[in-house]
Amino acid sequence: MKTVDRRAGYWNREKETLSPAAREAYQDAWLARLVEHAWAPAPGVRRRLEDAGLQPGDVRRIDDLARVPVMKKSAMPDLQKADPPFGGFCTVPVQRLRRIFVSPGPILEPMGPELSAWHGETCLYAGGFRPGDVVVNTFGYQLLPAAHELDEALHTIGCVVVSTGVGNTDQQVTVATTVRATGYVGTPSFLMTILKRANEMGVGRPPFEVAQVGAEPFPESLRRVFQDEHGIMARQGFGTADLGMIAYECAEAAGMHLVEDVITQICDPRTGEPLPHGQVGEIVATTNNMTYPMIRFGTGDLSLVTDEPCACGRTSPRMLGWRGRADEVTKVRGVFVHPRQADEVVARVQGVRRVQVVVGREGHQDSLTMRVELAEGVDAAAARSTLESAIRDVMKLRGTVEVVGAGVIPEGAKKIADERTWE
Ligand SMILES: [Zn+2]
Repeated sequence: MKTVDRRAGYWNREKETLSPAAREAYQDAWLARLVEHAWAPAPGVRRRLEDAGLQPGDVRRIDDLARVPVMKKSAMPDLQKADPPFGGFCTVPVQRLRRIFVSPGPILEPMGPELSAWHGETCLYAGGFRPGDVVVNTFGYQLLPAAHELDEALHTIGCVVVSTGVGNTDQQVTVATTVRATGYVGTPSFLMTILKRANEMGVGRPPFEVAQVGAEPFPESLRRVFQDEHGIMARQGFGTADLGMIAYECAEAAGMHLVEDVITQICDPRTGEPLPHGQVGEIVATTNNMTYPMIRFGTGDLSLVTDEPCACGRTSPRMLGWRGRADEVTKVRGVFVHPRQADEVVARVQGVRRVQVVVGREGHQDSLTMRVELAEGVDAAAARSTLESAIRDVMKLRGTVEVVGAGVIPEGAKKIADERTWE
């Protein structure tokens, strides 16, 4: 694989180099088709548009979308509870789906019969993956969609996928070196963990040349370590379980190109009004997914967009990094943590007076500490052990519990305090 050019070329040259006017026409066309298609079989879509006083014919162009209120991701669990299983957003009968995923919330996501609904191959190709790469996919194959979507995209490109899934570092090292894996897919922190462990085990570095990382922030300092010390071209994408991939880095690594089959708007987090390029706002996406169309879906993530030309030749605007969360929902090791999950955890123990979840950073790993103030007479050791297992159960994360004295958690403190810094 040494002679492969990982920087040049496109997965779909025509689509990725559209002029701004042609891109707008392309997006207008699929948007009108999508709304028309979803109206009858997806009552969830219909209800939202009708509540805004709109008929399908009223949403035919990107500009029309501003009339549709933003649907917050945090509203999804209740919407799905009210109209199970998918909140009325799925356009095909359950029997025709290929898979159903369960994300924290809980939020269910359907995988429809069509391939390439998540645009992963565009992102992976731009990030340097090429036919013939042998790729370890370390995203979790249980419940969550990311591993399956990228698995399918790798297969579409012509890569060989080793579905190693999450964890079990020693086995990851052994497998990656044995099969001579040239590619890695997963979180950036776990790639670092694998590289360090390979060194400790004395088996030599796995022959990774290319990595697609995501689900957590990717500091430039870590990218440099991958590139300079390990010769790995690591690029990131941005996506969610509900939307699939919506943006990705090319070889230039100067922001994330927006996928043409998603209309990504940066909006005022309070009013939902689209903001001009260059302003920070909430990422709001409308996806060209015929099975599970999301229309004006508010991710809760903040970013900004530029339309300055990129040296790679792609013409789409680029999203310039993650600028935090629009609400209190916080991402820890790639998993969303909601304030109400903290309530759910402490409900399993009698006598918790106050609780605060502190998210920090140790090296290249997120840490999660739950501070609790206990009522008098509560057995601290027993409470700690029950709470730690409840964190694993409810938040799907490992965390430590710290029992603190009265007053350490101030009155009215944020339930989740994010103390991470990125540089
Ligand atoms: Zn580019």
